[in-house]
Amino acid sequence: MTASPDKIVREIRINPIVPSESVLVATARGLRPKKAEAPAPRDTRSHVETCPFCTGNEHMTPPLIAAYPDEQGWEIRIVENLYPVLGDDRENPNLTLGLQQTIDGYGRHEVMIDHHQHGIAIHEMSEPHLALLFGAYRDRMEQLYRSNKRLRYVLVFKNFGPAAGASIAHTHSQVIATPVIPDNVQAEVSNSHAFYDKNHQCIFCSLIDEALTFEATIYDRESGEIRRKISVGQYVIERGKKFIAIKPFASRYEWEVHILPLQHQSDFLRISQEDLADLARVVRRTMARLDAVLSGAQYNYFLHSLPHDKGCENCEASYHWHIEITPRTSIPSGFELGSGLFVNTVAPETAAEKLRAVNLD
Ligand SMILES: [Zn+2]
Ligand SMILES: [Zn+2]
Ligand SMILES: [Zn+2]
Repeated sequence: MTASPDKIVREIRINPIVPSESVLVATARGLRPKKAEAPAPRDTRSHVETCPFCTGNEHMTPPLIAAYPDEQGWEIRIVENLYPVLGDDRENPNLTLGLQQTIDGYGRHEVMIDHHQHGIAIHEMSEPHLALLFGAYRDRMEQLYRSNKRLRYVLVFKNFGPAAGASIAHTHSQVIATPVIPDNVQAEVSNSHAFYDKNHQCIFCSLIDEALTFEATIYDRESGEIRRKISVGQYVIERGKKFIAIKPFASRYEWEVHILPLQHQSDFLRISQEDLADLARVVRRTMARLDAVLSGAQYNYFLHSLPHDKGCENCEASYHWHIEITPRTSIPSGFELGSGLFVNTVAPETAAEKLRAVNLD
């Protein structure tokens, strides 16, 4: 007897790394407490006369920070953000007034124009270009960490498509350096460290091992029906020589996928040139799968790497950098905002199967 992949799932799944980030997986139509987002059309033009990020309009952007491979024939440009959420123009002391506490909004906010073509999607870019892009992320993170000791975390992320909050249609990423370590990063760092203390291994490495080797079947004692069946590779979406794309068992978003180095590595800044080439391949193929299944993916992705902050011994051994890709297909409901419990209406097992089934060649 085999469990049908479309069997109704209704259960709360606990995120193994950050248990407070649990998710309600509810797949039956009547159980879905949220609304699917209508797909917003995305801008696919290759050049737009009036776009400040398009070639020929370089004078319209804020000051240039870096260009790859060079300023004249640029493929990637890093510029200051015209409307920074954090700025380094002032350094005010932190304040506490009664219950009101503030930390100075000090930091850096930069824009990375990912490609000279206006509306190109990640999966449409060449692999050498993607390797250049991720190399640019690495370089810029390194420079920002080095530039000022007060910057405790550098977050690289991308919003793609109007549904994902991209305010400028031209493909771009953002780099934000903050004087605090974001809560969700801190939770990953602390919890994975606690796991390491107890089990003497990295929880992310354990998750990868489980995804690649684990097999189990649990039967219902009364009916004899299969309650849960885990097959080898069930959560694997893509596997490269050095990287793997996995569908998390407790995915908060319907089409969420994580990409991790197969070999333990805590700090993205250590990625080698050879690794970048394989990462580019795994990213491109994963994004192509998402785009095919969603008929045009609009998403956020962000990079989580070990903070450059003293105060955590063994974190090098316990933390494992990764990229989280979170396609936007539904609008968060009051239930989700009020409870903090994310609702996922597509069983991660079904999503993984659909993503794997895409024929890329
Ligand atoms: Zn443009
Ligand atoms: Zn690891
Ligand atoms: Zn993370």
